[in-house]
Amino acid sequence: MATNHLPNTAFISPYSENHKEIAVLFDQVKEIILAHYANTTERELIPSFQDELLDLFTFPGEGTSNDQLIDDLKKIFSYSANHISPKYIGHMDNAPTTASILGTTSLAALNNNMLGLEMSPVFTRMEHHILKEFADLFKLGDNAGGLMASGGSLTNLHAMTIARNYKLNLPDGDLTRLNAKPILFTSELAHNSIVKNANVLGLGAANVEKIAINEQGEMSVEQLEERIRYHFEKGHRPFLVVATLGTTIAGSIDPIKDIAKLCQRYDLWLHADAVYGGAAILSEKYAHLLDGIERADSVTFNAQKWMSVAKTSSMLFLKEYKKYINFFRMEMPYYSNDSQHYNSLGEISIQGSRSTDILKLWLSLRHLGRTNYARLIDKTFELAFYLEKMIDERDYLIKFADAKTNSVLFRIRNGYIKDSVKTLQQYILKKGYYFSIQTIKGEQWLKYLALNPYTDEEILNKAINCIDEFYEAQRVHRAS
Ligand SMILES: *Cc1c(COP(=O)(O)O)cnc(C)c1O
Repeated sequence: MATNHLPNTAFISPYSENHKEIAVLFDQVKEIILAHYANTTERELIPSFQDELLDLFTFPGEGTSNDQLIDDLKKIFSYSANHISPKYIGHMDNAPTTASILGTTSLAALNNNMLGLEMSPVFTRMEHHILKEFADLFKLGDNAGGLMASGGSLTNLHAMTIARNYKLNLPDGDLTRLNAKPILFTSELAHNSIVKNANVLGLGAANVEKIAINEQGEMSVEQLEERIRYHFEKGHRPFLVVATLGTTIAGSIDPIKDIAKLCQRYDLWLHADAVYGGAAILSEKYAHLLDGIERADSVTFNAQKWMSVAKTSSMLFLKEYKKYINFFRMEMPYYSNDSQHYNSLGEISIQGSRSTDILKLWLSLRHLGRTNYARLIDKTFELAFYLEKMIDERDYLIKFADAKTNSVLFRIRNGYIKDSVKTLQQYILKKGYYFSIQTIKGEQWLKYLALNPYTDEEILNKAINCIDEFYEAQRVHRAS
């Protein structure tokens, strides 16, 4: 047999003779996963790294036995970050849907490639149709369509590339033909991928104008218009505004309707970075928060955040899909595609070979359906409002802004205690709850954000009790 020199379970045999042994491996991994979930609330949320693990990070001369492999995998599980706990209430990282765990295994087993239609005949079509459905949810119109990439930074990069090539009339991206400085605008709370991407695209990080935010964390439309006019008067080439719908730091939502008016008046591309907040579109009650998104030329949205699909799962939508995508198309001479209807995605994606991420998303959508996704999302809004109410009831706590989505930023008022936000965070962490720390204009805030369907009011009560305890123990005796 051709594989005699390899371990019996190195590959799944096309002749079935090792399938029993493979099934044992699958069963063992299944047991590890379920055991891990079974005590996730008792385990440390941010386990400290154990140096003994370093011995495992090698490429050995001879392969290890299956038993050793399973033992090693168990160690990796036990020291990994514990985002899947309902007491992990500080970031967008989350417990994935069951469908995405099954989907990830399945897509690895199939190992199709989004590069071309014949390498992913099912998934190219699946991505096309599912993303068309999302484009319709965002009301982007009949000509809209989308494609996926490995994360929001990349889908933002793709949107910004097309915006640059289209608005600056540089179909091949040749910036040396420009005789004026290209300028783009976003808010102080924009995701750092916007600046990174300006660097990658040769636009220059310094040509990203960060527009001030108001007290609710939203981009100031007045200042935006002022800065647009300023740059036109200077002879520069403003071409793009990136509005954030759900800022990563604070969950705030830029006033996209007013921003859209300015974009129309000054002929600028409007990109809606809804990587985080886009999921609100699934909620009957909260979809209105995204009103105006339908006016964007491009939209990005991550299902790997609020929709709890396993990483990665990110979507780019273009309002005039066929027209715009030609501003970023490279024919693949080594590859033929006879379909008039479906693109060879390798010709129009920034990535070449690409995972069939759509399978996890599709399986999750099918498993939960619209109604359950709406419930899931509504519940996370309600929990944030519940926590916000408890914060409002405490004189010694202050919020950064009103909760607009499912996150709340808060801290103990300056002067009420001597300790830092970091000390408070570590105190709460020792008690078993994780809030993250965000810094805005040099000031630190504790951030609450929970996506986990098992996070409930009781967990929030207990977390707030920890903060009360800390405050009582530390408070400065105030003279007044
Ligand atoms: C998370 C996030 C991104 C980046 O997405 P990645 O998948 O982490 O690359 C971009 N924009 C916003 C608003 C985000 O919250």
